[in-house]
Amino acid sequence: MATVATEKMEFPLWVGGKAVKTGKLRTINLPYDGAAVAEVHEADEATFGRAVESAQEGSRAMAALTLYERASLLEKLRALLVRDAEPFARLIAMETGKPIREARTEVERGQLTLTASADAARSLHGEVVPMEAAPSGKGRWAITVREPIGIVGAITPFNFPLNLALHKLGPALAAGNSVIHKPSENTPLSALRLAPLVQEAGAPPGAYNVVPGDGETVGNWLVMDRRIAMVTFTGSVPVGEQIRAKAGMRRIALEMGNNSSLIVEPDADLEAIVPRCVTGAFSHSGQVCISVQNVFLHERIAREFTEQYIERARKLKPGHPLEESTEISSLINVEAARRVESWIGQARDAGSRILTGGVRRHASIEPTIIADADPSLNVCCKEVFGPVVVLHRYSKIEDAIAQVNSGDYGLQVGVCTRDLSLAFRAASALRFGGVIVNDVPAYRVDHMPYGGVKKSGIGREGPRYAIEEMTELKLICWKA
Ligand code: NAD
Repeated sequence: MATVATEKMEFPLWVGGKAVKTGKLRTINLPYDGAAVAEVHEADEATFGRAVESAQEGSRAMAALTLYERASLLEKLRALLVRDAEPFARLIAMETGKPIREARTEVERGQLTLTASADAARSLHGEVVPMEAAPSGKGRWAITVREPIGIVGAITPFNFPLNLALHKLGPALAAGNSVIHKPSENTPLSALRLAPLVQEAGAPPGAYNVVPGDGETVGNWLVMDRRIAMVTFTGSVPVGEQIRAKAGMRRIALEMGNNSSLIVEPDADLEAIVPRCVTGAFSHSGQVCISVQNVFLHERIAREFTEQYIERARKLKPGHPLEESTEISSLINVEAARRVESWIGQARDAGSRILTGGVRRHASIEPTIIADADPSLNVCCKEVFGPVVVLHRYSKIEDAIAQVNSGDYGLQVGVCTRDLSLAFRAASALRFGGVIVNDVPAYRVDHMPYGGVKKSGIGREGPRYAIEEMTELKLICWKA
């Protein structure tokens, strides 16, 4: 059996380069079995106010750093994350309940996010504007420069507590801003362990402040505080919509949900795509915003795909997240697992076939594959955020594309075919932030532009793209 930390850890919050204890404690439990793993000091209103003041000082200090100095800071932070990789992975596994092997991958991805952020700092640039292209521009020159925006308020979800924090912190620091970060109340440990490392890497005090707490209180203070220049949010659609309504004229970035689809044509390489669908649907028990949820199978390969997929899904080894051999563990809590269980029940009651899985144990749900589901069922049209896949059949790709496009979401979608021109036709017809050809929609590397259309969000992450949203474009024009 894995050794779980029996001694409960205590995590102060982090303001102005210092650990702060408020005494407002929340216990963080291991989702798999409910064991208490840590006590976290949450922000009260006075501490939140101090965090904003220190972020104001932090933003002035960050803006004064050269691009070279910001890139060096981010590279040092990356080196510290390499040094502390294993303790971070264990912490992520404990707070999220994801298998330790996936937690290690998250730490490695976090290191790449920091490398990409350092690159974004080094390549931040404006352009020369051709003023003489207008009659009144004769004799004028103009350049654009990108200036820091000030304080970035970051709100993150539970599922990637380290890498999603770095997707906001990395480009914000590269841009010369400071950050106030409210992590998920379920998973604040990684950010609280990251904060002293940001300091150790040489960031000015106040460059990164972490204020854990509930969304409705601390999250709301962050959204409402006009001293914060930009709110960057990753999480669910209802919360994102509320934030958008409250943010007023300030800059906003919203990275939200999806009910990701994959279209599999008859010429697809099934040997390659079936195992990818196992990883793409059941990693972190499907709690990934681009987790494979709806698979559209051409009728000629539907049977073969389904048989292979069921066989592989059944082989996944369930268990404790800290067990090295565990391949699927639990959802974030029992409440989330009960919701997924009820959606599976709704599908069963409506006459869908549960081909495998469907059973809940505590906070865990077996890998579940469903067929014959009506598109109006929750498991099809809403974001399941659990280890559930629905298989659909089609005979003409146009019909599959129309059905995929008819949904509320638009983050990423996958198309598998060896026919290059068909792949391009499909890619241009699909209304999504990203189209992944010959792989699952869950494919992502951290430097690529990533974000959605429709209810999936506003703006793009990936440090080189996020840095543009976290800077103000200034024009400087002069008469020769
Ligand atoms: P959530 O929306 O419940 O919470 C996200 C964050 O918002 C948390 O920190 C929470 O405390 C905060 N929050 C809640 N109410 C708030 C309010 N009224 N004001 C301000 N902040 C508030 O999401 P979750 O359950 O933690 O995460 C799952 C969701 O995140 C899924 O919908 C998933 O698709 C999405 N997600 C999207 C991406 C992406 O990049 N597009 C990545 C990961 C997760």
